[in-house]
Amino acid sequence: MTTLVIGARGSIGRQVLEQLVAAGETVRASVRDPATAGLPAGVPVVAADLTRPDTLRAALDGVRKVFLYAPLSGADAFLQAAGDADLEQVVQLSSGSVLLPGAAGNVIAEEHRAVERSFADSGLRWTPIRPLVLAGNAVNWARSIRAEGVARLFRPDAVTAPIHERDIAAVAVAALSGGAGVSAMLTGPELMSQQRQVESIGAAIGREIRVEELSEDAARRRFGPSATVAAILELTTAAAAGGSPATDAVERVLGRPAVPFEQWARDHAADFR
Ligand code: NAP
Repeated sequence: MTTLVIGARGSIGRQVLEQLVAAGETVRASVRDPATAGLPAGVPVVAADLTRPDTLRAALDGVRKVFLYAPLSGADAFLQAAGDADLEQVVQLSSGSVLLPGAAGNVIAEEHRAVERSFADSGLRWTPIRPLVLAGNAVNWARSIRAEGVARLFRPDAVTAPIHERDIAAVAVAALSGGAGVSAMLTGPELMSQQRQVESIGAAIGREIRVEELSEDAARRRFGPSATVAAILELTTAAAAGGSPATDAVERVLGRPAVPFEQWARDHAADFR
């Protein structure tokens, strides 16, 4: 039984693929540009684009289970192709923000809600995976940390429980085999401020990192005027007011504690050196 991982070069998709391979599952990887694949040896790689049903039809041929990212530009192409395939399980990366009452109207939450509605109405056997805040967001600080030893942050006091991509992938793999509780809001084990995340990265690379606080105006100027940036600033402001919870969903699904941010920082130290 073949499982297709769409987005197998993404930080979460790659982990899903590697964990399926380690579990001895038969897998196929899809990327938009196979020339740049660089995926584990022996894994068949196909080209597929979530906006192009023709590529998806070919990629889904003979496949029974799929992991994919939320097609934020519209789910129609995937749902059309999936309707013609013989799928037993579709696991779709979504966002824990869909479960945050405080995120009603937030553009990121609403985009993910819209995708979830399309999948829920599709008749497919579909399971959303809902991480709230990715530890990987910290990679956005890497360039200035490498170049200047500085992290420029909007609301360094914003408190979240960032989740390691390995844990998100492990829950997705559990979902692919019908595990329970997998659509709960997923977080890391501990609430911590952005300031403390920077300190953890500093400890992982053996270098003190200076934090410079950005005002909301400075953050808008630096990151741009898009609705997504506005939505991120909104969620960050809410997180500084206690609006970003920690859950024990990872431990309940996996039967072991979620990976701490300090471990994420050690795993990704090379990005910050
Ligand atoms: P990532 O490393 O940037 O990878 C994104 C993947 O999506 C890539 O593998 C890319 O494929 C694939 N992709 C993008 N557009 C595609 C298309 N049209 N067709 C096929 N594949 C496409 O992302 P990540 O860090 O693993 O996960 C990011 C996602 O997590 C967000 O988009 C959001 O939905 C979700 N999320 C994020 C947060 C957060 O705190 N940031 C919180 C909750 C949920 P190629 O390799 O072909 O380019």
